[in-house]
Amino acid sequence: MIQKNNSNNRSNLALLAFLVLPSLLIAQDFDAVQITTIPVRDNIYMLQGSGGNIGVSIGADGTLIIDDQFAPLTGKITAAIAALTDKPVTFVFNSHFHYDHTDSNENFGRAGAYIVAQDNSRKRMETTQVLANGRVQEAYDEVGLPKITFFDAMRFYFNGEPVDVVNTGSGHTDGDAQIYFREANVIHTGDMFVRYGLPFIDQNNGGNLDGMIDALMNLASLIDDDTIIIPGHGQLSTRNDLLDYRAMLVVVRGNLVRSKVQGLSVAEMLATEPATGYAPANAGTADWLTRAYNEYR
Ligand SMILES: [Zn+2]
Repeated sequence: MIQKNNSNNRSNLALLAFLVLPSLLIAQDFDAVQITTIPVRDNIYMLQGSGGNIGVSIGADGTLIIDDQFAPLTGKITAAIAALTDKPVTFVFNSHFHYDHTDSNENFGRAGAYIVAQDNSRKRMETTQVLANGRVQEAYDEVGLPKITFFDAMRFYFNGEPVDVVNTGSGHTDGDAQIYFREANVIHTGDMFVRYGLPFIDQNNGGNLDGMIDALMNLASLIDDDTIIIPGHGQLSTRNDLLDYRAMLVVVRGNLVRSKVQGLSVAEMLATEPATGYAPANAGTADWLTRAYNEYR
């Protein structure tokens, strides 16, 4: 009886949390978020708040940003940019479609910015998606969708330098874009490269481990040792950091493929601890390894 009541209470609470709490919690979280401005090089800056790192190029032509975090933060992001320049945001590049990089799209679109993304990212933002971690991302209104898309590469000339927007292959999703400021020698990698351990790979939306490893080598050959990398999440980095991260993925993939060849079940694969030394042995790591393991047949 007690057990039954407990479980009823728990499911009622869970339902309540699902219906009511997220918006409240999110609102409180975003109230507390501060936007930090970090100079990168020349006229390029990085903004950190909540969600993906924002790249900013300021200059005579206007303001170009890469990614725009969460909609409740648009005002704070705009204020941080206004402290750097009086020019409005002309272009918003989306490194990919995930909400923590694109949720301010509708606000910036309404304010007149042109949103730019890889073809598949626009397609995914047109309809509701379920991410590989189970998170549901609702479709955006037309005003929040990219007006300009590309397939594998295009070049802008903006604020005195060529700005290359490239897709180095499917990896994190099937619509990733990296934005390379040629003159400043600064690249924003989106979530193809992050600084939090095993990277989220969205297998539901075209992401895959092999693709990420290949794309990272393509990226490494695009840049040099003097390049400053703005990663999707985390601190400014170098080409060596990117190669270390790629090496981690290669080792973990090797362990997974060895288990697959041996015909191990998921539980047996997990027991071999394929990510030892790279990621803590917790539920998140187990989920990551399971999703990656299931990529191989
Ligand atoms: Zn992402």
